[in-house]
Amino acid sequence: MNEHDVEKAASLLDVAGFEAASSPEAAGVVIVNTCCIRQKAEQKFYSLMGRLKRLKAKRSLVLGVTGCIAQMEKGAIAERLPFIDFALGPASIHLVGDAVKAGLRGERTLDFSENGCLSSLYVRPGNAQRKVKSYVTIMKGCDNFCAYCVVPYVRGREASRKSADVIEEVEELAASGAKEVVLLGQNVNSYNKGTDDLSFAELLERIDGIAGVERIRFVTSHPKDLSDGLIGCFGRLGRLCEHIHLPFQSGSDKVLRSMNRGYTRDEYEEKIGKLKEKCPGIAITADCIVGFPGEDEEDFRSTMELVERTRFDGIFSFCFSPRKRTAAASLPDKVPPDAARSKLRALQELQKGITREKFEGMEGTRVEVLVEGLSKNSREELTGRTRTNRIVNFRGPAQMIGKLVEVEIVKGFANSLRGADA
Ligand code: SAH
Ligand code: SF4
Repeated sequence: MNEHDVEKAASLLDVAGFEAASSPEAAGVVIVNTCCIRQKAEQKFYSLMGRLKRLKAKRSLVLGVTGCIAQMEKGAIAERLPFIDFALGPASIHLVGDAVKAGLRGERTLDFSENGCLSSLYVRPGNAQRKVKSYVTIMKGCDNFCAYCVVPYVRGREASRKSADVIEEVEELAASGAKEVVLLGQNVNSYNKGTDDLSFAELLERIDGIAGVERIRFVTSHPKDLSDGLIGCFGRLGRLCEHIHLPFQSGSDKVLRSMNRGYTRDEYEEKIGKLKEKCPGIAITADCIVGFPGEDEEDFRSTMELVERTRFDGIFSFCFSPRKRTAAASLPDKVPPDAARSKLRALQELQKGITREKFEGMEGTRVEVLVEGLSKNSREELTGRTRTNRIVNFRGPAQMIGKLVEVEIVKGFANSLRGADA
């Protein structure tokens, strides 16, 4: 989501006539997009701003802050960072071109509109932002109020874009060369809830029929709203990829209750069972929080058990980080940070073994890869993803970028796969 917010800002600046610089040192304008989900990201942000302040002291530079930290701090950010030229919340990102131009004139812009307009969710990609894989925001905000999460406070109430607008955007992206679309929302399963517009499963069905779209993905799904209708799309819609990101957060019913997640571990496992039944071979990834207040040894064992039984492709796991305004920030029975960190390590070790085993099991198979570009590690290699969202690196001609190719897997690693030379 944050990556897409950066792309939107880049597209708006591209259209406004700005060009990308190779580094902050070489740039006349630097914009820092921020995330406040966990405290660590916030600490990193303030230390980066210290470095940029020193850069700005040496020469003329327009410096702006966008995203969740700006929204959370509002006017306070302008006081805390008096040297910045603008600050925009996530719903004000469409103002970025004007904010930069005002900064160049020496004027300051601060805009933290709470709910923003849904039309700001659509930004036509600039030429440099046209990609094989394109993100499409289908809804904004979140109404779930999980006890640990700051998103409902900084991204506002949930609202869905009209399906006709989403479909038009996907058609436009497909016509300009996008092969994969990733539909974005904090909880896409509740898309259009309470309206008479298309449900999420119906929207998928419509997008599946758009010429040129080869692959469809979506993030994120909330287990409580994952309907049988949506589960039934897997294996049935030819372009919907065999991968779902379904965060469980904890394997303990007691912790899930105090997180306000709205499902039990059995209900989660039942949905996983249905997904595997409808779509054998589906890759499942998830998010998990360790060290939530009140989590004891038995609760953590339940989480480890769930991980062992589900055999996820991968897990993004985090230590609980108390966030201002959220219900969990004031819960008693805090888990000491050292204990949480050591549990996190154990969970990550367990998952690493499972991922490696799964990836090694693919050696010798042939898979369809959508080639996304040159590999980050070696400019002589290409990188792409399988339909199950596993990264494959292999040697091949640059003309393959943007194409679907069949690749033989020669080696499985902890986080990626190596394909035979093409
Ligand atoms: N809407 C998505 C998640 C958005 S935040 C969903 O509900 O699945 C991404 C992930 O960050 C969450 O799934 C959670 O695992 C983690 N996260 C959010 N707030 C956190 C906090 N206060 N401490 C630790 N991890 C957190
Ligand atoms: Fe946060 Fe929960 Fe909403 Fe996800 S569903 S954004 S974790 S409040």
